[in-house]
Parts: sequence; structure tokens; C-alpha cells
Amino acid sequence: MIRIDQDLCTGCGTCVLVCPHGVLAIEARKAVVPHRHRCIECGACQLNCAPGAMHVTKGTGCLVAIIKEDILKLEPEGCG
Ligand code: SF4
Ligand code: SF4
Repeated sequence: MIRIDQDLCTGCGTCVLVCPHGVLAIEARKAVVPHRHRCIECGACQLNCAPGAMHVTKGTGCLVAIIKEDILKLEPEGCG
């Protein structure tokens, strides 16, 4: 699960750049989550958010990604 503290977000866009699945976007100078279902909860956005606005809680996202990509051999959504 992803949660963004809008008060801390500076709209720098780093999380959008590092997200491997195209989950995030910037709107009105704040990070938003237009494609939440694509998130694999890798934590890259949280690790690279300098102000600490991004919070990722491990849930079922990684498992869903493993099933889709490694077992069902589906293309990752949002890549490319
Ligand atoms: S990296 Fe952090 S501060 Fe920058 S846009 Fe993303 S959530 Fe906001
Ligand atoms: S946890 Fe990973 S996949 Fe999910 S929004 Fe952050 S960088 Fe993207």
C-alpha cells in the first residue's frame, strides 16, 4: 500500500522517475497515484523521497507481481 503525505511532498518528481511500473505522477506540484494497481511495493519511491513524504507498506503487491510476471509470464504493466 502506498501513502503520500501531501504536506511533505515537494513535487520534485523523483518518485515518478524511479518507479519501475509507472504507478505515480505529478499533478498540481504534488505526487499522486493514478495507477495504484500496478504497484509491486518495491519501496524505491520511499527510498528516494528526500522529504520522507512517501510511505510504502508491504502487502500483497509483490505476490501479485510474482504471479503475473513469473508464473503467468504476463508483461509488467506500465513498463515501456
Ligand atoms: S519523491 Fe517525495 S517529495 Fe518528490 S514528488 Fe515524490 S513524494 Fe513528493
Ligand atoms: S513501491 Fe515501487 S512500484 Fe510501488 S509506487 Fe513505489 S516505486 Fe512504484
